[in-house]
Amino acid sequence: MASVFLGLGTNLGDRAGNLRMAVKALTGLGDVTSISRVYETAPLYVLDQPAFLNMAVRLETRLAPLDLLESLKDLEEELGRVASRRYGPRQIDLDILIYDGVVLETERLSIPHPRLAERRFALAPLADIAAQVVHPVTGATIAQLLAALPDNPDDRVEASAISLS
Ligand code: AMP
Repeated sequence: MASVFLGLGTNLGDRAGNLRMAVKALTGLGDVTSISRVYETAPLYVLDQPAFLNMAVRLETRLAPLDLLESLKDLEEELGRVASRRYGPRQIDLDILIYDGVVLETERLSIPHPRLAERRFALAPLADIAAQVVHPVTGATIAQLLAALPDNPDDRVEASAISLS
């Protein structure tokens, strides 16, 4: 069994509902053993879009990294189809943040997620459930990476009152 941390994000439609459906669907890929709080986060790269909800979960799974990626892409497509046109905008983004101590760099998949250490919207929820987990490339814990992020007033990440239970 591998212990994997996934990042979930959504900024379209019923955002809390999208997260709820995604967490439920992930139970088909293994055991979801930890769930972070839900965070409301300002969009970063493309500013002209609605705010995101982000969260992280721990998944204990027997799927190998590339098989897991394949399954996550299938889930994204399935969940995106529920509330929007086929080929319409995606309702949910599922990223592999950390997969055990694995370091992998291929065209299709990089583990840990290459932008994890710079993304408050990924690190803040991850720190809820994996504060002492070590990033296998930097050697820093998730809590240390979060604390080391530069202050940026545009980088707004706030725990939301939304609960998935
Ligand atoms: P996205 O940003 O979700 O549209 O993902 C774009 C592509 O990033 C995916 O199709 C993957 O092939 C690739 N990718 C590379 N590393 C990762 C990772 N750690 N988790 C998820 N997707 C990844």
